[in-house]
Amino acid sequence: MKSIDQVNFKGKRALVRVDYNVPLDANMEVTSTTRIERTRDTVRKITGDGGIAILMSHLGRPKGQVVDSMSLRHIVPAVSKVMEQEVIFLGDVLAPDIKERVNALTPGSIALLENLRFHAEEEKGDVAFAEKLASLGNVYVNDAFGTAHRAHASTTIIARFFPGNAYAGYLLYNEDSSLQKALTHCQRPFTAIIGGVKISTKIGIIENLLDKVDNLIITGGMSYTFRKAFGVGIGTSVFEPDMVDTALHIVKRSFCKGVNLYLPVDSVCSDQFSADANVMVTEDTAIPDGWMGMDIGPKTIASFARVIADSRTILWNGPAGVFEFDRFSKGTKAMATCVAAATASGAYSLIGGGDSITAVNKFGLQDLISYISTGGGAMLEYLEGITLPGIEALNNN
Ligand code: AMP
Repeated sequence: MKSIDQVNFKGKRALVRVDYNVPLDANMEVTSTTRIERTRDTVRKITGDGGIAILMSHLGRPKGQVVDSMSLRHIVPAVSKVMEQEVIFLGDVLAPDIKERVNALTPGSIALLENLRFHAEEEKGDVAFAEKLASLGNVYVNDAFGTAHRAHASTTIIARFFPGNAYAGYLLYNEDSSLQKALTHCQRPFTAIIGGVKISTKIGIIENLLDKVDNLIITGGMSYTFRKAFGVGIGTSVFEPDMVDTALHIVKRSFCKGVNLYLPVDSVCSDQFSADANVMVTEDTAIPDGWMGMDIGPKTIASFARVIADSRTILWNGPAGVFEFDRFSKGTKAMATCVAAATASGAYSLIGGGDSITAVNKFGLQDLISYISTGGGAMLEYLEGITLPGIEALNNN
């Protein structure tokens, strides 16, 4: 995969696939510009060289229909503000006058196409549609890690129309190299912390990581299914009956692979799922009837903290408890603090997945982590060991 550092964009029209699937409020104003900000360096590199950046993205799920509330026209002011220059709205890629509009762009300008998913061909990966898009530029840049796991026209298929001329923007390049640094070129001990509520959504990641890590910490709601598998009482804690065999399989595989598996040894419990329920801390792994585990307890925090402190590479996905309620956020906060401290001592830390990111932001520790992946589904598939089509298209270019 080639980085855009390898190209001078002077006199070029770059078609840049970005992920501007940003949240809008009822007034059609962007409520979080993070995704836009993360592409700023890429756009500035193109315009700074004297090139033209034609941005293309999807927004929401219009399913091949024109839906005004999902028009990218609404985000033009926000993109202009982030880029600190006027962004020209080009309208629809299939509009009869699109070529004229593109030809009118001057060097250094930034333009934005209409929501690509207004055409069903985008998600179908339609070759003719990709070719039409490709005809608007002479260089292709993919900076949309968040959609790199989709073989859509603008994320994957389009690259074939730019032989030797398709590049990864800084965001995509950094995501790829950060994940590779953790998964392939890691320093040991390598510890994965997998939390959150469902084993079923994380099993692919755990299976893949078992071939790579030295330590696996299982935390959060999913740990109750493991306890149940061992015949330990879990009260009314979250539980996936279908995953009991899977939990035992993970324990067996960890043992066979020589991976140290760490599970919680105590819990902070409540008598109902609410912020102001009655609370008690268990002595050990078992949870009495009528109580539900909401967070890891102090002994568990101490045990996990030792493992994290000794690690040189740390990958974290999924919270340790119901961190959205302050009373049950201690475990997740302790994990975040330990990961930040290990990072300060030289470990490489990578955090990904919506809730883990929300958690580190909540505790104000985001700047103390080596890399925070914003990829969502794309990052999860990457961690499962799946080659993402958007990245593969650039690798093969
Ligand atoms: P996931 O999307 O699988 O990463 O799960 C994230 C969610 O897991 C968060 O909303 C947490 O509140 C929730 N969670 C973590 N620990 C528990 C627990 N012990 N009981 C119920 N939910 C939990």
